[in-house]
Amino acid sequence: MSTRATGMKLLIAIAIGFLIGLVVGFALLYAPSAIRTEAASWLKALGDIFVRLIRIVIPPLIFFTISAAVASIADLRKLGLVLLWMFVLYIGTSLVASILGVVAGEVFQPGVGVGLTPPAGYTPPKPPSAIDILLSFFQLDFSGLLVVGGAMTMIIFAIILGIAVALLGDEGRKLYSFLKLASSVMITMVRVIMYYAPVAIFGYAAWLIAVYGPQMLGAYGKFLLAQYSLSFIHFFIVYSIVTMIGGLSPLKYFKIQSTPFLIAFTTRSSAVTLPYNMEAAKKMGIPDEVYQITLPVGATVNMDGTALYQALSAIFVAQLFGIALTPLHIGLAVASAVIGSVATAAIPGGGTIMLAFVLGVTGLPLEGVGIMLVIDPIADALRTALNVSGDNACSVLITRIVGMKLRSS
Ligand code: ASP
Repeated sequence: MSTRATGMKLLIAIAIGFLIGLVVGFALLYAPSAIRTEAASWLKALGDIFVRLIRIVIPPLIFFTISAAVASIADLRKLGLVLLWMFVLYIGTSLVASILGVVAGEVFQPGVGVGLTPPAGYTPPKPPSAIDILLSFFQLDFSGLLVVGGAMTMIIFAIILGIAVALLGDEGRKLYSFLKLASSVMITMVRVIMYYAPVAIFGYAAWLIAVYGPQMLGAYGKFLLAQYSLSFIHFFIVYSIVTMIGGLSPLKYFKIQSTPFLIAFTTRSSAVTLPYNMEAAKKMGIPDEVYQITLPVGATVNMDGTALYQALSAIFVAQLFGIALTPLHIGLAVASAVIGSVATAAIPGGGTIMLAFVLGVTGLPLEGVGIMLVIDPIADALRTALNVSGDNACSVLITRIVGMKLRSS
């Protein structure tokens, strides 16, 4: 099931689901409003089932893929180097993306002139403290690891468990074999869930058009133009530079990355794209010891597309409400978008839920989250595609920095 052909067939099925969804959605625009509302709820439920399946599989997927990969590395010094450079590059590229988000907001000015009024008696919400944010990465107890919001703690737990298994040496082999097998099972589970993706995408596309079709003009259109333009600049320029320094021809990178890019674009989940991103990594020649760690962690932690989107959304919301932002606010928007993207769950819509955090830190109306939900499926598609592409670009460079070589294929 792991061939390029499967990826292509899946993409074709998804594209067909999407197109039928668009047709049904437009047709519903002409239906009586009671029928349209009822049908839209059912169509959305088709998509929600997919998201719930992803949410179920995320905790074990993260746990087994990361712990098995860490346990497989006998050389703990090398593991430390991979982890260190992974975090440096992941944070560095997300920072660049988040600055590009501000640039997009300032250049395109998508929300200027709309003139929304902040709700009566509005006072900016109190942002969470740095200590709150830090501690949120470490759940209170084990049950906190089993929810999507506990993904960061799950990563930390899986890394420590993997190290413990490696430290046990021969004694740990049995558990390592189990973790490795379970990791393959989890990745295969995702592939099984993907058989349902075309139906989910049909449902979401039809629902989106039936409910929000007419609103896609005006400020929302401008927002999407700003987001898509700067996201493609980040994709083509930043990742060309990163892969080139890593010793891989950018052309080869873009060609191989196109399949996971499209799968992420249509499914809007970094988690379900993980198996396809891993296949692409293998084709790029990234060694197993690198991508088996950097990609599962990256799927949860490294989200350049989300960082760009969240920073841009903060600027957009301020413009909609006519709130002037000082350089300090802009700095807060950039920093909180980087942290917000790290904390975002790798599921459809995760980035807009976490936008509440960015708006809170920047002191902007939380109503912005509701406003952004309207175009979320379209905004999410490209940000997810960028999220997964960044993981592979960084993995190419990490390979070189830690002194390994890309395998020629
Ligand atoms: N859907 C994105 C992802 O899975 C997260 C987001 O909503 O920004 O990568």
